[in-house]
Amino acid sequence: MLLEATLRASDHRMTRPRRVVWDVLNSTGRHLSAAEIVDAVHELDPGINSSSVYRTLGLFADLDLVRESRLTDEASTWEVAHPDDVIHLVCSLCGATTHHATDAVDALRTQLGAGSDFHAAGIDVRVTGTCSNCITRLHD
Ligand SMILES: [Zn+2]
Ligand SMILES: [Zn+2]
Repeated sequence: MLLEATLRASDHRMTRPRRVVWDVLNSTGRHLSAAEIVDAVHELDPGINSSSVYRTLGLFADLDLVRESRLTDEASTWEVAHPDDVIHLVCSLCGATTHHATDAVDALRTQLGAGSDFHAAGIDVRVTGTCSNCITRLHD
């Protein structure tokens, strides 16, 4: 298990909040705000307090287990870390975020590597637009 192995490798213990936050992030395909994560954690275990959920997210981010994104003007969202060759499509109307796999990000990284003395670490591509649900709704 990625979580156990990563915690062990960095000298952290497995705790109930860590387990439950990880389960919440893995059981959704969506990006969740911290407040949504707290709600989902409380559904599974009302005994876990919000501040330990926030601390857990911070730890997971430090360990590169999760990815925090600021995709809209709203609060940042969290998800299980994924490689950068996925770009985010963000609906400007409803905020829904979907993933789009592309090799364009790798191509960009290669170009950057070849043409400059800047070392690119993370590439975070965000495309704004209108999702298919909202397009359907607009045409109704
Ligand atoms: Zn939408
Ligand atoms: Zn994502």
